[in-house]
Amino acid sequence: MAEGHTIHRIARDHNRWLAGRALRASSPQGRFRAEAARLDGDTLERAEAYGKNLFHVWRGGAICHVHLGMAGRFTLAKAPARSATDQVRLRLESAGHVAELRGPMRCALITEKQRRGIIAKLGPDVLRDDADPNPAWERIRRTRKAVGALLLDQGVIAGVGNIYRCEALFLTGVAPERPGDALQREEFDALWVLLRRLMRIGVRRNRILTLAALEPERASHDFRFYVYKRPACLRCGHSVRVSTLAGRTVYACPECQR
Ligand SMILES: [Zn+2]
Repeated sequence: MAEGHTIHRIARDHNRWLAGRALRASSPQGRFRAEAARLDGDTLERAEAYGKNLFHVWRGGAICHVHLGMAGRFTLAKAPARSATDQVRLRLESAGHVAELRGPMRCALITEKQRRGIIAKLGPDVLRDDADPNPAWERIRRTRKAVGALLLDQGVIAGVGNIYRCEALFLTGVAPERPGDALQREEFDALWVLLRRLMRIGVRRNRILTLAALEPERASHDFRFYVYKRPACLRCGHSVRVSTLAGRTVYACPECQR
């Protein structure tokens, strides 16, 4: 599943290579054909990421909302694109580049009011410069729900997915099952700063790097993470505990995370 860094990277690439240009829009798969016809020939004003949501704002007034969900992909290649297009929900083409959206959970034209409604339901997006962590802290400190579940709740913090959740909790020494109201403000601040740092690296490098970002000398092809999908903790050697929180598998070290 795409985490927030993927969406921010897509927005950045689309702003760089597609925005400000009149684009050809089509839906080779057919499920977005009428909408694509409305966009065809229009100029993309900007792409904007908010958590795991991508918004394309078009000069003609249309707004396209994309959520990749579990399996969606939005690829960008230099024109002409050569891959098969039968699964492409939305294809955007400039003189130099082709963007292709496959398998999204959602791809729809929405109104500005709907766009504001989607954003209003989200917590602060850790990757946005304007993000205020305080609303996330206020939600977390008032609930008995597990911190590991709260981090995946897009209404608490937007953009965090399972790998960043597991790795950030390990690096701050917080057990995923710890109730929100037992988290200290300093621990929350450390989590926020760490997520921001790691996910910004993720945007820049276009992949999730944790161990490789913080301790590159210890990382290799087979050792990319501290606890995520690891049999043993990279720090103390204790067996990594595998459980389920908020519907996703969580990995934690019972020794290093209390
Ligand atoms: Zn450990």
